[in-house]
Amino acid sequence: MAYVIGDDCIACGTCIDECPVGAISEGEKYSIDPETCTECGTCADICPSEAISLP
Ligand code: SF4
Ligand code: SF4
Repeated sequence: MAYVIGDDCIACGTCIDECPVGAISEGEKYSIDPETCTECGTCADICPSEAISLP
């Protein structure tokens, strides 16, 4: 299980620098590599759109 970025992502870029393992990739909508995510929850806490959650 890994955190997932949903459709509410506004591509603000806030999360990408906060991930300690570099699991987040840029895009029109940002995405999380499920193989790399350690479920630390940091990105979900700082996302201004609350777009990141555990499925
Ligand atoms: S912080 Fe939230 S809105 Fe901003 S890029 Fe990351 S997932 Fe998207
Ligand atoms: S939960 Fe933690 S490890 Fe997973 S993408 Fe977010 S910041 Fe990175």
